[in-house]
Amino acid sequence: MRDTLVLNASFEPLSTVTLHRAVVLVLTDKAVVERAHPGLRMRAATLDLPVPQVIRLCRYVRVPFRRQAPWSRRGVLVRDRHRCAYCGRRATTVDHVVPKSRGGADSWLNTVASCAEDNHRKADRTPEQAGMPLLRQPFEPTPADAMLLALGQDDLLGLPAWLGHGVVA
Ligand SMILES: [Zn+2]
Repeated sequence: MRDTLVLNASFEPLSTVTLHRAVVLVLTDKAVVERAHPGLRMRAATLDLPVPQVIRLCRYVRVPFRRQAPWSRRGVLVRDRHRCAYCGRRATTVDHVVPKSRGGADSWLNTVASCAEDNHRKADRTPEQAGMPLLRQPFEPTPADAMLLALGQDDLLGLPAWLGHGVVA
C-alpha cells in the first residue's frame, strides 16, 4: 500500500503514514490533502476522495523526533494498535513485562498492550514464569506513532472496513 507524506501545519515534513491513516486524518478534519495521486480516487457509498500523496495537518504539532517520546499508558496502546501482546485480541490495559514489583520500569521496552484477562492472569510474573510468550517484542514508538499521539488520534477502531482497500483507478 502506498504511504502518504504528512506535513506539519508549518509545511515541514513530519512522517509518512499508511494510506488508511492518511484518509482517516483527512476524514476527521485533522489534515487536508495537499497533493493527490493523479487519476486515482477512493470511492464508497457516500464518499469520493482523491488518493492523498501528501497531506498537511490543520494544526501545528510538536513531535519529539530527536529525543525519545515520553512513555505513557495511552502511548503504549497506540503503539500496539490496541492489540493484546499475549493473545492479539482488543487490549484496554497496559502490562509490565517485568512486573513493577520486581523492579520493572515504566518504559517503552518493558510495557505492552494487554487485554484485561491476560493482564490479570499474568499477575506478578514474567512472561516466562507465567508461560505466556509475547506475540511481539515491545519497541520504541515510531515517528508516525508519536505524531498520531500528539494529534490525539489514538483509536482507529470502529472505522469503515473498506478504508485502505477502496482505492480504484
Ligand atoms: Zn490477551
